[in-house]
Formats: sequence, C-alpha cells, structure tokens
Amino acid sequence: MAKVSIHPSVDGGVKPGKKDFAGGTLTCKCKTNPVEVKISSQIAHNHACGCTKCWKPAGALFAVVAVAPRDKVKVTKNENKLKVVDSSATIQRHACKECGTHMYGRIEKKDHPFYGLDFVHTELSKEEGWSPPEFAAFVSSIIESGAKPENMGAVRARLKELKLEPYDCLSPALMDFIATHIAKASGVLK
Ligand SMILES: [Zn+2]
Ligand SMILES: [Zn+2]
Repeated sequence: MAKVSIHPSVDGGVKPGKKDFAGGTLTCKCKTNPVEVKISSQIAHNHACGCTKCWKPAGALFAVVAVAPRDKVKVTKNENKLKVVDSSATIQRHACKECGTHMYGRIEKKDHPFYGLDFVHTELSKEEGWSPPEFAAFVSSIIESGAKPENMGAVRARLKELKLEPYDCLSPALMDFIATHIAKASGVLK
C-alpha cells in the first residue's frame, strides 16, 4: 500500500528540534516582495492539524502549526500585503493577499485560554531546529476538506508510525489546559 502523505515536512520522518534554538524568519510564497515575519524564540505545542481553518500547502492532508509568544512575533517586511482571512474567527489569521500563505494567527480576546500566543507555520522558515510536531489534532476533520472516510484507518496508522498520536480534538494536555482556564474563570477551580 502506498504511504499516506500527511504533510511535506513530516513525510520523510519528523525532524528533531535543536536545544537552545532561538527562532527564525517566516517568508511567504511570493517570488517578489515576500512578507517576512521574525520569530525570536523557540515555538511550543507544534502539531499536525486537520481542521479546515489552518493553512496548509497544496495537496497536504494536514497543516503543521505551533505557537510562539505574541511579543516574539514581528512582521519585518511587506506588512501592507497582509489581510485577516476571517475577522469573525477567534484566531485572526493574517495571510498574504497575493499568495494566500498564512503568516501568523493572533487571538485578540483577552479571556481566551490561548491569548498571548500566536499561531505560526515554521515550514515557512529556512532555519532548522524548531520543536518538532508532537501529535495530530482534529484528525477526523480532514474529511470536511475532502479526505475519504474509508482512508482514515490508513491516515491514523501513518500518524502513529510518525509518533504523531492522532486526536479528534486537541491533545489531552491542551484540552486540560483549556478546561482549567474555563474552570478558573467560572470560579469552579480556585
Ligand atoms: Zn505572499
Ligand atoms: Zn487547525
């Protein structure tokens, strides 16, 4: 059986990150005047995401997305080419108007569990050493983007082979993080 392609950055095996890695520059796909975004830190919670909102390269089943502290994410070139994809979405995804690449996603709601963290795709950087993806989120959602339901067994098997444990929401650690935030906000958890 042919290998299932998950995403170009992991299909050949997940590359390990480097200790003390201090960040890099994301560049959009435009041949001229690309948008550049500098990330001056390592990233966290890197994962494959099957949702319909995350940007992915053409033909990929999954996006690969991570978070970085928002004060470490700066647009350094051609900011005028960015626009918000869907201003009603919780995550304001800033994409290049010309090539469509999502450069960073930002949450402006201060009470959101992930407020203060920007969502980024490190495959847009030439630097090597980013923390590798650790799990796969929203796996069943790839069906909503056109993946065949009967192939889901093969997709999950390939994710497990890559040590990207498949989940149909976020990972247990992140789901616990969100629930803890909600419980503290509501006063259930002191
Ligand atoms: Zn572009
Ligand atoms: Zn997603």
